[in-house]
This record gives sequence, structure tokens and C-alpha cells, in this order.
Amino acid sequence: MAETFAFQAEINQLLSLIINTFYSNKEIFLRELISNASDALDKVRFQGLTDKSVLESNPELYIHITPDKANNTLTITDSGVGMTKADLVNNLGTIARSGTKAFMEALSAGADISMIGQFGVGFYSAYLVADRVTVITKHNDDEQYIWESQAGGSFTIARDSENPSLGRGTSIILHLKEDQQEYLEERRLKDLIKKHSEFISYPISLWTEKTTEKEVDDDDEAEESSAPKEEDEEGKIEEVEDEEKKDVEKKKKKVKEVSHEWQLVNKQKPIWMRNPEEITKEEYDAFYKSLTNDWEEPLAQKHFAVEGQLEFKSILFLPKRAPFDLFDTRKKSNNIKLYVRRVFIMDNCEELIPEWLSFVKGIVDSEDLPLNISREMLQQNKILKVIKKNLVKKSIELFNEVAENKDDYTKFYESFGKNIKLGIHEDSANRAKLSELLRYHSTKSGEEMTSLKDYVTRMKEGQKDIFYITGESRKAVEQSPFIERLKKKGYEVLFLVDPIDEYAVQQMKEYDGKKLVSVTKEGLKFDETDEEKTKREEIMASYEPLCRLMKDILGDKVEKVVVGDRAVDSPCVLVTGEYGWSANMERIMKAQALRDSSMSSYMSSKKTMEINPDNSIVSELKKRTDVDKSDKTVKDLVLLLHETALLTSGFSLDEPNTFGTRIHRMIKLGLSIDDDDAAGDADDEDLPPLEEDVDEGSRMEEVD
Ligand code: ADP
Repeated sequence: MAETFAFQAEINQLLSLIINTFYSNKEIFLRELISNASDALDKVRFQGLTDKSVLESNPELYIHITPDKANNTLTITDSGVGMTKADLVNNLGTIARSGTKAFMEALSAGADISMIGQFGVGFYSAYLVADRVTVITKHNDDEQYIWESQAGGSFTIARDSENPSLGRGTSIILHLKEDQQEYLEERRLKDLIKKHSEFISYPISLWTEKTTEKEVDDDDEAEESSAPKEEDEEGKIEEVEDEEKKDVEKKKKKVKEVSHEWQLVNKQKPIWMRNPEEITKEEYDAFYKSLTNDWEEPLAQKHFAVEGQLEFKSILFLPKRAPFDLFDTRKKSNNIKLYVRRVFIMDNCEELIPEWLSFVKGIVDSEDLPLNISREMLQQNKILKVIKKNLVKKSIELFNEVAENKDDYTKFYESFGKNIKLGIHEDSANRAKLSELLRYHSTKSGEEMTSLKDYVTRMKEGQKDIFYITGESRKAVEQSPFIERLKKKGYEVLFLVDPIDEYAVQQMKEYDGKKLVSVTKEGLKFDETDEEKTKREEIMASYEPLCRLMKDILGDKVEKVVVGDRAVDSPCVLVTGEYGWSANMERIMKAQALRDSSMSSYMSSKKTMEINPDNSIVSELKKRTDVDKSDKTVKDLVLLLHETALLTSGFSLDEPNTFGTRIHRMIKLGLSIDDDDAAGDADDEDLPPLEEDVDEGSRMEEVD
């Protein structure tokens, strides 16, 4: 009895998309199904390493492709691990992967159908060419089952009592659509397998049909004519002559003989065992594609062997772009395949490559590891640790090779710059090397990005530190008041606008012996002459009363108020402690706190208000307080200055409404609206009603 199941909604949607949308590139279905077969074989071979008995149900590991013109079907059979009934229910229809939705989104954004494998839903590509798909499967732990579906919302599963036993493995039978008969043609299938699946490490055999025309004796006549001659008694030589004559005389009949045989289609000699000099770019590209399901060529690759105390061969590839789920922590990285002496061991060997390099793809084939290595053993394995170290080293070499070509490196950096920064954060041993790979926009870089090395060559005479600013976007930091003075003095400032920059720069601390200094934090010092120093100290002394007054007004909103020299045009900025969080970091942490409710309280940075004595607002404030310390207009203005400084310095406002009210009052002043009516709703004690006697005109001038 067949049970009927409904496809999960998203899978159903995907199926109708595959069936109803016009794609010309349907051929990729074969690659996807062969890739699944290969995965299933990998699984059972791996199990067989520790328990030989699992292989007994079907000792040979193979992939068979059978076109059947009479029944209009194409069948892909593997002797892999097979699926239990539960596997069938879960894997082929009821549980959607994150990739299901992501793939549909990618398709509607113009992605190509051939990307399907990357999203982990390759099986459904069968419906590009078939209107009905039957899956017969036998897992060691269960009976043989038949799964079948014509799409249309549901599938059935039944115990298989009619077909011959598979022993172990899976047969996918595609009932081809009317217009997809080309996939029954031997030539087409051979070409496809060569093109897409050449590097599958199991033999792929195609069931081929050979028709030979054979001339056979017409049996009846032969009997008649040969019978008498046998009775002749002649010499040996004559006998031969006689035989020849007999052949010519004999009546022949042409018969078509059809024979079938399995023809091996793929080579299987692992490409990494070959000499790199003899491997073409096309071969590397094809290998990469079969390894990763990527539809594009790799950006670069590195094929190398390590010899000595420990031996292994490896090919590492860099993809052209980041996968859709690069930083999805739920996803298991599946990027470096581990082989031991040519035998595939496992797909996602986490011990082989650190997480920050999870975008590097490739294979490692070790001569030293034991074949029956288990996942548990991998964790403490010393050989693996050494391999890992080498892979990191070679990856960095590969990045540097890519960096020699600017266009390639720009592409690489757009996709994987974050990973390099993550590496700087996590890998102290390689930090210095990785810092060479960083690129930033800066006040002097224009549209291109600069390396730290190039920054250093442009440093001003006497400049000891490398200056940077962190923030939300390039646009935001380009206009920041923090860099006004530096720009004016001709110092270059790097723009660090990736959230991860905050973390990376904290670990990096310096480059080439030069300190990395944040221009939004305390500890920024300019060179100054003795004369300049005396002048600055004089100014500081004269502004001391204003600073004290402002601190009194602002209370614990700020740590202190001081005269600063970062700003040129702006009246003031808020700087944070040298070792504390920057405004940008506070923004990032707030965003995380919102995401994760367990982190509901976050530390806020301690802020120092730096006022700019050259600014007319500040000097006017000083004048007023010098005359009258209790000038009532000053308080409101200082609070407003503080709030605007929060915004221009990259912080957010805790009470945007209070700020709004203050601004509205300024607008009313500008429009000469009597504030009496509004006084009632401003009960916040920070907002005393404006005094009647204030000369409104002069007040507006200050704010302008
Ligand atoms: P992916 O192979 O990327 O995981 P698919 O949609 O192609 O996604 O296949 C879904 C699942 O179905 C696979 O993960 C696997 O568990 C199972 N499966 C598919 N084909 C086979 C097969 N030939 N043998 C065993 N299991 C298979």
C-alpha cells in the first residue's frame, strides 16, 4: 500500500518553478543526480572503513546510467548508502532546507538554474526533464522502498515488492518528458558526463547498445551444399582451396546483432596526483566545478605537495564570489575534502581549516593518516594540525598571488575581505602577514582602496601614527567632524566602515611599527611647536570656566569637557576613551543587544566633550558666561550642542523626543511664535520655558 505525502510548501513552490519556468540549460540535472550518487557512495565507503560488513550488501561501488528507449526512461543507479523510509520522507519532500527559499529568491533575481546544486536542492532538478520520477532505494537498515511523484503537490512511498533487489543503493528513474528524448542518446549522455562529472571518483558506466551487422550462413542451404563435400577425399592443399571456394559459393545472410555492455565514461585518476605542469586550466576548472557545484570557474588555485616528515598533496581553490550562506553559522562548512591515500574520508573536515578560511575549497590527500580515522580521533590528531597550518600558509600565499592583479584582488576583497579581517582577529600567528592584505578607502585614496603599505609611503614627515576612523558608512565618516583638522593638516585617515573592522583593529594595534590610532578616541596628538603649545595652554586656561560650566550642565552625560583640536568647523565632538568603545562599536553592540535579548544591557562608552574654541558658537558661549555665569539661555544651548554632537560623532540619542522638542522650540523662535502655549507640555526640567526677556533675534544668530 502506497502512502501519500504532501510536499512541504516551499519545496512545492520550487517544483512548480522548475517545471513551469522556461530554462534552456536543462542538462545540469544529470550532474546533480550523479553528484548525489557520488555523495551516497562516499557515505557508504566511509562507513565501510570502520565496519567492513556494511559493504557486503553490495560490495562494488559504482554509478550506472541506463537509457531505455523502449520505456522512455533514463535511470541513474548507485550502490551508495541508500535511504531508509524515514530518509525518503525527510530528504525528498517534507523538510525544506534553508537553500530552498534562498534558491527561489536567487532565481527571481536572475540567477541561473545551474546554481541549484549550491543551494542543496539538486535532486529536484530531475523535474527539468522528467514529468514523473521514481526512486527505488535500499538502505542496509531498512527494506527496499519506492518513492514516486509527478510533482503536483504530493508524492507516494511504498514497500517495493516488485523490482529486483538493489542489494544496497538507489535508482532514480526519470520518465522523460516528450521533448527531452535527447537524454536517451548515447553520444549526448557521454558528452554530458565528460563535461560535468569527469572527476567523480567512482566509475560511471553507461549502458550502451551496439548493433553489429553479421553475415551468417543461411543454415538450410549450408547443410545441403556442405554435406556432400565433406565426403570428398582430397589432399590437404586442395582441401584448403576447396574451402575457399566453398566460402564464395555459400549463400550468406546479413543479420543485425544487438549487444549491450557497460561502458566506463570517466577517467577517475585523481587530478591532484598528476604533475601540475601537465594540467590545463580547463582541467582545473572542470575539477573545481565538479568538486563544488559552482557554475563559475574559480578565481585562482594552488596545487602543491608537502613532503618531508609528513606528506600530503592538496589543491586549494578560491571561488569568484561568496556563497549565499558564507556566515551562516548553522551551515556546516563543506569545503575541504579529506582523502587518505586516494580514499575519500570525509567532506567537512573542520579540523583541516580554520573558520575564517571557510570559503577556501579544495582537497587534501594525506599519506600519513590511518584509513580508519574517526571524527573523534581527528580532533587531537597531530598530523592534521600540521596539515592545517600548511593550508593556512598556502592560502595566504594564494591571496598574495591574487593581489598581484588589481582587478582580481578587488573582486576577491569584496567577497572575502571580511574573512581576512576575521583572520586578523583570530589568528595571532598570521596577523602581520594578513595585515598586508587589508585594503581601505581613505581621505586620500579616491575611488580605489589603499593598502597599509601604501599608506605608510604617503605618511607626512614626522607622522608617527596611522590614523583611522570607524563608522557606519564611507559617506558618514567622510563628513565626520573628527577628521576636519587632520584633513586640513594633510594627514591621511583610513575609513574602517565594516563592523568587523572594529574587532580586527583592536587586535592589530599596529602596522610596521606604527600605532593605529582612532581619531574618535582620546590619545590623538598632533606635533606642535613650543609656540603652538604655549598658545594652546593659554586658550585652555581661558576656556576653563566654560568647560566647568558645561560639565555642570551635562552632569554624567559626559566624563569631562575639554578644549580640543580635532574639529575645524564643528563646535564640538564627543570622543571616547582610548581603550573603550568607539561610537561605532557602541552602535554595533546595541544592534547585537537588540538581536539577542540576553544581552539586554550593554556597556555604554565614557565620553569626553571636546569643544572647538575657533567655532563662533563656542566663543560666543564663552563671552556670555564670562559676563554672567547664570545666563539662562546657556543651559538649553549646551544641552542642544551635546545632543547634536552625539549625532555628528556617530552615537544615537537615548531620548530623541527631548531633542526633537528642543529643536521645535528653536524653529518656533525662528518663526517668531510665542512659546507661551507650548510651555505647558515641556515639563522636562532640562527644558525651562524660554524667558520672555530673551532677545530672540540674537539667539537665532548664535544657532545659525
Ligand atoms: P543535497 O544533495 O545537496 O543535500 P538534494 O536535494 O540533491 O540536496 O538531495 C537531498 C537529500 O536526499 C540528500 O542530502 C541525500 O540525503 C538524499 N539523497 C539524494 N540522492 C540520493 C542518493 N542517490 N542516495 C542516497 N541519498 C540521496
